[in-house]
Amino acid sequence: MQEIAHAAQLSGLNNEDIAYLASLGTFGRHASNISKTLIDKYCKSDELVVPQPYVTRVPMLVRRGNTEKVVLADHHFFLPTDWVASITQFNDSAVINQVFNFDKVKDFWNDHDSEDPKLYKNPVTQIKDFKRTVNPMLLHGDGGQFQRRDSLNVISLHSVLSSFSTAFKFLFLTAMPKKCTNVDKRNNENDTMYAIWRILVWNLEAAFRGVHPETQHTGEPWPANSNRARMAGKPLFHGYKLWVFGINPDLEYLQNQFGLKCQSFNECCWMCPANKSDIPFTDAAPFAEWRKRTYNAKQNRAQPATDHIIMQIPGVVNETFCIEALHTNELGITSHYIGNVLWDQVYQKYGAGKTVSERMSNLWNLVMQTYSDLGISSSNRLGKLTLEMFSDPSRPHQDYPCLSQSKARQARYLLPVVVKISEANMQENPCTYTALCVQAGKALLNMYNVMDTAGMHPKPLERINFREAVDIFQMNYGRLAAESQRKEEKKWNVVNKFHYSAHSPDYFDFFNIRFCSAYGGETEVGLVCALGHRCLDGTPPHKISSKLAYKYRLGQHLRLVHNAEVAFEESDDD
Ligand SMILES: [Zn+2]
Repeated sequence: MQEIAHAAQLSGLNNEDIAYLASLGTFGRHASNISKTLIDKYCKSDELVVPQPYVTRVPMLVRRGNTEKVVLADHHFFLPTDWVASITQFNDSAVINQVFNFDKVKDFWNDHDSEDPKLYKNPVTQIKDFKRTVNPMLLHGDGGQFQRRDSLNVISLHSVLSSFSTAFKFLFLTAMPKKCTNVDKRNNENDTMYAIWRILVWNLEAAFRGVHPETQHTGEPWPANSNRARMAGKPLFHGYKLWVFGINPDLEYLQNQFGLKCQSFNECCWMCPANKSDIPFTDAAPFAEWRKRTYNAKQNRAQPATDHIIMQIPGVVNETFCIEALHTNELGITSHYIGNVLWDQVYQKYGAGKTVSERMSNLWNLVMQTYSDLGISSSNRLGKLTLEMFSDPSRPHQDYPCLSQSKARQARYLLPVVVKISEANMQENPCTYTALCVQAGKALLNMYNVMDTAGMHPKPLERINFREAVDIFQMNYGRLAAESQRKEEKKWNVVNKFHYSAHSPDYFDFFNIRFCSAYGGETEVGLVCALGHRCLDGTPPHKISSKLAYKYRLGQHLRLVHNAEVAFEESDDD
């Protein structure tokens, strides 16, 4: 870059920025200094809409030679309260709306039903004027691969009200390599993620009160004359406050990071006493025992879903944990439904063709034809369909069918295609089985139609329609599952995600679960991991947070101030 700028200058271009770039590293004579000079000037500047990182020491697992040791090492965070200060510092309403959209706070609360169980005895309702000042936020965490055999645990926050539709609305908070994460349940002081969450909880508590933290998280005063010392105890922008309205990672993260009761527990649900024995989570009946005993708001307040420190953020209650649609539905119930219908085409010989491979190739042709009949855009289609994507061809009767290797969005748009195929089967082959397949599929499509057309706060009729669609799907799929079990066939598997989806109408009544799905979050994790990968050259993983923070600062600043909602392929890999 310096060479190009210098050449441009020599050929007569007279421009301040070019002259500066040309002069870097003493006009290229000390080229190795250029990168550091640029990072210091641009990535560390106070003039960015992305805050300066908060740097503090946390316990990390560090490998030296063949030994591993827990050491305290510097780690970089972007604090939510600092984000509010930096995003609002230039009063640029376009940038502020992309991220926080405070103007919409009043509308959100006007539309939000005060009967929402999440609001029962919730400290947010104790805030004077909360319907004018409290911005609802979603907290996301997920692991993403950033180098061979290591992943980053990426934690971020975004406003439900953000006007930005892509991943760029996310406020990146911090990222920790898995290999550096020490787990010590007996001594929190040695536990890496405990230290990380303690700092985030400390700051989100201040954000909830709507003030810049009075001290550092340790209770020590801020360094004299620092920006943070000047801001200490002062209200956030115009007295606004941030409330963690939803926590929306996938189920694995909810269970492994926050200790919520999910698939690995015998009592496998944090919303009701469903279990793997006498109150079966698989019971899809309208009068299932777990339905009668689903926890109400009063029970939820008396019995926190987890003892994780995250429950100490004021305003976080059991209902804060979202039923996240991408993993529960698209990569859950929808993928199971699709897998079974496709399996029948090939192995139940519903499709045309004499051999498995003939039926498979006819099936793919049929899928492509139906995509085009239904006008499904090519970006939402599967690029290929193979037997391995819904069965194990070497032992097709020994594993439950389920669509895999498909992105969430592709599963969503394969559903109408598969329902069409199912309808054709019923025409050809009218019987209870094919009718149940069609009814389950149509109900699932209805569920998506209601979600896709309803706004953030569903209207009474939309609530009824959503609940009806979910219940009809559960009932028909449940009958198919029961019938397969009776015949000892491995089909129509009922995994935990069906149970969580069955709870989803209780959430949809007060907030459309489409608006807390992890689509953007998955993209954000992908971006941070790609950046993390680029910070690795010669840097041990426990030190990458500094490089990552400064590179992210400049990149995100440019995206926000140049309104760079550019064409960017959203990733929704699991
Ligand atoms: Zn439950």
